[in-house]
Parts: sequence; C-alpha cells; structure tokens
Amino acid sequence: MEVLSRLLRRLPRAANFSYHPKCVQLNLTHLVFADDLLVFIRGDLPSVKAVADCLDTFSHFSGLHANPSKTDLYFGGVAETVRDLILDATGNALLVNSVIFGLHTFWGASVLLPKGIAKRIIKLCKDFLWGIDDGWISTYVLKGTSLWDAQQTVSNSWYWNNMKYRTDTMYGYLRTRRPLVPWAPLIHGTGSHPKHSFTGMLVMNNGLPNLDKLISRGMCFINRCVLCECSYEDIPHLFFECEFSKSVLIVVAQWVQMPLGSFSLAQIMQTNLPTRRNVKQHASLLATIYYLWKERNDRSFKGPKSTVDALSIVIRKVVTLRLYGSNVS
Ligand SMILES: [Zn+2]
Repeated sequence: MEVLSRLLRRLPRAANFSYHPKCVQLNLTHLVFADDLLVFIRGDLPSVKAVADCLDTFSHFSGLHANPSKTDLYFGGVAETVRDLILDATGNALLVNSVIFGLHTFWGASVLLPKGIAKRIIKLCKDFLWGIDDGWISTYVLKGTSLWDAQQTVSNSWYWNNMKYRTDTMYGYLRTRRPLVPWAPLIHGTGSHPKHSFTGMLVMNNGLPNLDKLISRGMCFINRCVLCECSYEDIPHLFFECEFSKSVLIVVAQWVQMPLGSFSLAQIMQTNLPTRRNVKQHASLLATIYYLWKERNDRSFKGPKSTVDALSIVIRKVVTLRLYGSNVS
C-alpha cells in the first residue's frame, strides 16, 4: 500500500490530472485506511484515466489488482454526460456522495477494533476535518470565518448544512430568551463598570453568598452584619436597611440627586424607574452596591474598615472616572 501511495502522490505531475476541487489547497490525492483506498480527483475523464494508468503501473510491478466487486465510484456535482463517459470507460457502479466518518462507522461495524485503534482512527478523521489551519472544514467550508459566522449555502453538503443548522438550534436553545425582569435595564445598558453590574445582578437574583445562605448550608454558625454589628445579615439588610449602608446610599444619592422613596433595594429599583435614563444615577447605585459588598468582605476577612465618608468618596471618584474619564465631578 505504501508503494501505491507513493505512485498516487505523483499523480499531480501527470499533465492530464486535475485535483478534486476541494482538495487543491490540501494537495490531497488519496487517503488510506488499512487496506482501503480512497482516491479524490476532479470529475473528468482525463483525471480518471490518469488514476487508471497509475493503478495499471502498480499492478504491472506488484502483480496485485484492484477487486472490481469491491471498487466503487462516488460522484458529486458531475454532469450526467461526463458521468456516463467515465462509467463507460471504467464499467463501474454508481454511488453518489459519501461522508468521511462513514469509513470509521463501516470499519467499526465490520471488525472488532481495539479501543486504542478506534480512537486513533477517530483522531485522524477529526484532524483531517477540523485541523485548525489546514483542515477540510476550515479550508473549504469556513474559509477563514468562524463556525458562528459561516453561512449555509446550497453548495455546502447536506451533512454540513444540517450540522450547522443543529449547532445554531442548540446555541439558540442554550441562550433561550426569557421575559425581561423589571430591573434588567438598570443592570444592563448603563455606563457602569461590568463588575459593578455583575454584582448588582447577583444581588437582584439573591445570588451573593451572604451569611444567611452560608448558615443554611452549614458553612457558618453566627449571623451578624459586619457593617453595623447589630443585626442579622441578609440581602435586604445589606442593601440598604443596614444603618451603615443606608448612610452611604444617602450621601451618594444626594450627589447624583437621586430621590430615595424607600431604602429597600427592590423598591428603589421600582420607584426610581424613570431615572433609569440617568446614567450617572445607574452607575452610582451599582457602584454603591459593589463597594458595600466589598466593604462587607473586607471586614469579614479582617481587612481595613472604611467610614461612610471614605466609602462615598471612593464611589464618587470611581463613577466620575468611569463616566467622564477624570476625577472632577
Ligand atoms: Zn448591618
């Protein structure tokens, strides 16, 4: 098979030989799996004759001949007249199209393959199809685009188009759009720092690991707010029933002229709906949440303590820098 493979690699030197259109860039003429041989060529008579000559040469030297009953021609996109010419010349049966993974399936179904060899075959198929820079998919289907950007086209194979369709469907399924929560515009679409928005989202989803949650999981036994040191710590308390956090919020709210109808986080979000258009108010509210949570963690882990004034100044500086690119508010 190695000798035959060498002869086939010389096929492109023949004047009448043309690569299969999808094999030009890969300089691919054939693939060998154990005793099976796949030859890829352009669908024209001269190329078929070039291959036939190559096989004749091999037979002449080796005395081995291809078994006609185990040989098939696979056509794709070849005009009927050309196809008839080729069939007349070769006398072969017709089968249209194939999928390379079918090879592995065929072998797996026919022969009991050792697990290591099966894995090796799968890897070879994957490398051939999906090789990062020179694989079949990246060269002929994606053509430099990403999987997500690749368009379905008529010329692409059914297999590929179907796979692309299924990938899109699965992606759409995984990112199923649910109805927007009322506070979504406050978290997204503001000038806030992403980490402030993220913390705000965790707060609204009750996703922060505060003390009442840790106690319910048996990870902690004492629940005492480290900001005021006189109350039970849960999300409503931290934002902003706690005297410390309430004081910080009042200073920040005065700075951005944000009316505070209530000190409950949920009610602030609802009663201040019209102010969602105010980027500075959004950014300040989310920054206040973030720095209160940070202060809570610093104190929990014996870090430095900030005062209400110090924390308010930090929030003001960070928001101003974020929105206006300077320290001047
Ligand atoms: Zn407190």
